[in-house]
Amino acid sequence: MPRGINTNCLHLESEEGRSEHYGSLSYPIYQTATYAHPGVGQSTGYDYTRLQNPTREHLEKIVLTLENGTDALALSSGMAAIALMMELFKPGDHLIIDSDLYGGSIRLFDNVSVKNGIEFSAVECYREDVESYIKENTKAVYIETPTNPMMNITDIEALSKICRKHNIWLIVDNTFLSPYFQKPLDLGADIVIHSGTKYLGGHNDTIAGFVITNKDDISERLRFLIKTTGAGLAPFDAWLILRGIKTLGLRMEKSAGNAGTIADWLITRENVTKVYYPGLIDHPGHEIMKRQCSGYGAIITFKVASKEYAHKVLSKVKMIKFAESLGGTETLITYPITQTHADVPRDVLVRNGITDTTLRLSVGIEDVKDILDELEKVFKETEEELYAGEKS
Ligand SMILES: *Cc1c(COP(=O)(O)O)cnc(C)c1O
Repeated sequence: MPRGINTNCLHLESEEGRSEHYGSLSYPIYQTATYAHPGVGQSTGYDYTRLQNPTREHLEKIVLTLENGTDALALSSGMAAIALMMELFKPGDHLIIDSDLYGGSIRLFDNVSVKNGIEFSAVECYREDVESYIKENTKAVYIETPTNPMMNITDIEALSKICRKHNIWLIVDNTFLSPYFQKPLDLGADIVIHSGTKYLGGHNDTIAGFVITNKDDISERLRFLIKTTGAGLAPFDAWLILRGIKTLGLRMEKSAGNAGTIADWLITRENVTKVYYPGLIDHPGHEIMKRQCSGYGAIITFKVASKEYAHKVLSKVKMIKFAESLGGTETLITYPITQTHADVPRDVLVRNGITDTTLRLSVGIEDVKDILDELEKVFKETEEELYAGEKS
């Protein structure tokens, strides 16, 4: 009988009933570079940590179980995971990419992949006819859903049918929802990407990334690439992510619950001109989210009245940290235009609607009242300073 995801965050069925590691409940950190061989042609199963390490392998098994994959590779960052995945392609290959993506992914594609001869078409996958962009040399479609930061929602199952028909891969960066809320492989994707730095690790203390697949041929090529290019996750960092994953479900539920409350509050504010949160029933992707996810996540993008308003909010927050990143225990507020999306070309920002009034909240697991109290105070002070004397 398949077990629930909260159980799978803690236990691997294959490891049960053994008395390895002295019964240690915490998986040991095998802080070693190399492994001694019992004899010529004999191995303990491990040769050298760049190839594999027991701590990293344990983490990979937990993550592949959560995503219903057959293989998961743990890398030293989300970008290392995406860069490794891009090595599956060769010069002349064409990829369709979502036009609203994590800024670092756009930077990699524009500056590294293009130099390596890969062609791209940026498409608004949530509303355009993706099929009409497929060419002879198209090898994959690469999406995020929800997108970063505009929270556009793509129907993964519908897109996977188009990909299957044309015999191309569907790759989904699932960082924003984590496998707790969304499992792209179950919906027909071939490869899933994670920045493990975000919800999987969850504590804003470790950088990591994952590539997960359920296709044996892809897995075989990725295993060759990780040992050859060498960006596998270090044993101690693998242990930190393992520790974080234990509470994935609790953190996702709490932060998504908080986010729902905050989104409802934001839409009532006079100087908040737009709220992008797929849990709101008037969000254009709400119905698709209801079908393909089990929760709406904890990222809220919103627009305020002016650039000055945005800048004041960012300089006044205290408990809420003005910082890059998302998916951790602490609530963060990000200014995409100068942070996550600073290297994204101007025309792409304009097309996606990322402006100097756009803010992104990654809602954490604090008591929601305390987050609301701080936002209330910061908005009030901002309005007093900006509009002093306007209203009598
Ligand atoms: C952060 C992030 C990445 C990059 O991950 P790092 O761990 O920072 O290298 C990729 N995709 C998304 C959606 C992200 O949020």
